[in-house]
Amino acid sequence: MIAGTISKITGPVAVASGMIGSKMYDIVRVGHEGLMGEIIRLEGDRSTVQVYEDTSGLKVGDPVESTEGPLLVELGPGLLSSIYDGVQRPLPVIAAQSGDYIQRGTVASALDRERLWDFTPVATVGQEVVGGDVIGTTPEGQTILHKVMVPPNVKGRLKKVAPAGQYTVDTTVATLEDGTEIKMSQWWPVRQGRPYTRKLDPTHPFTTGMRILDTFFPIALGGNAIIPGGFGTGKTVTQQSLAKWADVDIIVYVGCGERGNEMTEVLVEFPELEDPRTGAPLMDRTVLVANTSNMPVAAREASIYVGATLAEFYRDMGYNVAMMADSTSRWGEALREVSGRLEEMPGEEGYPAYLATRLAAFYERSGRVQALGADEDRVGSVTMVGAVSPAGGDMSEPMTQNSLRVSGAFWALDTSLAQRRHFPAISWTKSYTLFLGQVRTWYEENVAGDWHELRDQAMSILQKETELQEIVQLVGPDALPESEKIVLEVARMLREDFLQQFAFDEVDAYCPPKKQYLILKAILSFHEAAVSALNRGVSLRQILEMPFKDEIGTMKTTPHEEAMEAIPVFCTKVAEGIAGIEVY
Ligand code: ADP
Ligand code: MG
Repeated sequence: MIAGTISKITGPVAVASGMIGSKMYDIVRVGHEGLMGEIIRLEGDRSTVQVYEDTSGLKVGDPVESTEGPLLVELGPGLLSSIYDGVQRPLPVIAAQSGDYIQRGTVASALDRERLWDFTPVATVGQEVVGGDVIGTTPEGQTILHKVMVPPNVKGRLKKVAPAGQYTVDTTVATLEDGTEIKMSQWWPVRQGRPYTRKLDPTHPFTTGMRILDTFFPIALGGNAIIPGGFGTGKTVTQQSLAKWADVDIIVYVGCGERGNEMTEVLVEFPELEDPRTGAPLMDRTVLVANTSNMPVAAREASIYVGATLAEFYRDMGYNVAMMADSTSRWGEALREVSGRLEEMPGEEGYPAYLATRLAAFYERSGRVQALGADEDRVGSVTMVGAVSPAGGDMSEPMTQNSLRVSGAFWALDTSLAQRRHFPAISWTKSYTLFLGQVRTWYEENVAGDWHELRDQAMSILQKETELQEIVQLVGPDALPESEKIVLEVARMLREDFLQQFAFDEVDAYCPPKKQYLILKAILSFHEAAVSALNRGVSLRQILEMPFKDEIGTMKTTPHEEAMEAIPVFCTKVAEGIAGIEVY
């Protein structure tokens, strides 16, 4: 047994001596209460430990005992609909044990040991299996079929397979000829990405139902994006909308270091929500990891890795998983605090020099993959969306800049848009995506052949607006020719009738891709008709007097089916109506 004593404590960091034989990232139990901690530095017989729980009261000389293994998460049926803290302790269970404040040193099993699961075998005795192969299945919630898989580093010939029946997570459901037992649940070290057979091109879009994201800055399933934004610009609302509406099978939502009341909203709201696609409870396909600002900083990092591991596990079953992390900046701050305590050489703004590599390694765990196992058709994905909270909205700070370098899309929230109540306050001038080329074909085949063309037209009208606004600032709007005034008019329609989308509107909270395209088409048809009428000598006033503008404004809140039927008719009406205006 590796055991020592505390020789120094600073904040969340403790140094233990007498720890010969320790390994990096081994989990230790600190003090008489057995607080959970992780070894993050080794020097001689001394181990430096980041403690995941409040260290007040710890004394020099208190015992430290190593578990001689890294932080593991338990993976098995029952994860979905669970609410965990940063080290995968189920919050409802700990609350029942220790009241509203988590008692330090509390140990609680991640999965219910008693609960019975309906197991159906799919593998047969005598079959050669490798890591990732499916032994059997069990329904988890109303919509997800959980696959009991051979753990990644195991292979051999099956000697026994359990018959169909009801089993707990501890039941051995298969035995290999060498005696290896495969249970309903398995363990995995959180800091290590789970293996897969190979990465695939991310060619399928991650559709969100948010017009600015899907049409302007789409990402792919298996891609990743960051949402940087100052306080109150809409990071949390956006992440929650994605959790409700994104077209994926499983959601892993990590609340990392944000204020408790925000997370409470999630914890209270989510269990009440219905999955808009299936009508089943949304929690049936969701795992929440909550590590709020009042919880110890060191566990923030653990919460991020726990989330990533849970996401990979369902990816391995062949599901599309989305992981939201709100906010990665709080994790960065934890790294900074711990690094400071370790007296490491600080990098930019006090963040450790390894901030960039940590972030890269984290986002690297996203991807669309052929899952491990002999079954070549099992494809799954992890899409990651990380909120970033730059102080004062200053995007030049290290967390934003480093995240930006390793993520495929940048959904920049803009304080001035939020102040003007333009929601979602995602900037169309500062945001970008690297996935456009990859998902374009899907949109052209499944939504409309001119999807990309319309998107580009809309973007360039908005760009033109920005340029024109500078002129307007100098000389006033009257100085512009009508051909430019129409650009301002259409840009306003794009902003108000297309980009603005109220997250709490019953209809408009989610907009199907086809409807997004049609609204854009309506606005751009109006533009086209207006431009050609102006060229004929019609005045702008005559065009704007037609009732079309107002009709476009109501499309987003018109029920989807109805709107999608009406818009093509509307486009024809606009073209004919404007073409019919007489010049006088
Ligand atoms: P952050 O997490 O960036 O601090 P929030 O996500 O909590 O900010 O958003 C702050 C407020 O902005 C919300 O309470 C809401 O009133 C408004 N808001 C943000 N996004 C939207 C949206 N898409 N639709 C409607 N309101 C929004
Ligand atoms: Mg927030």
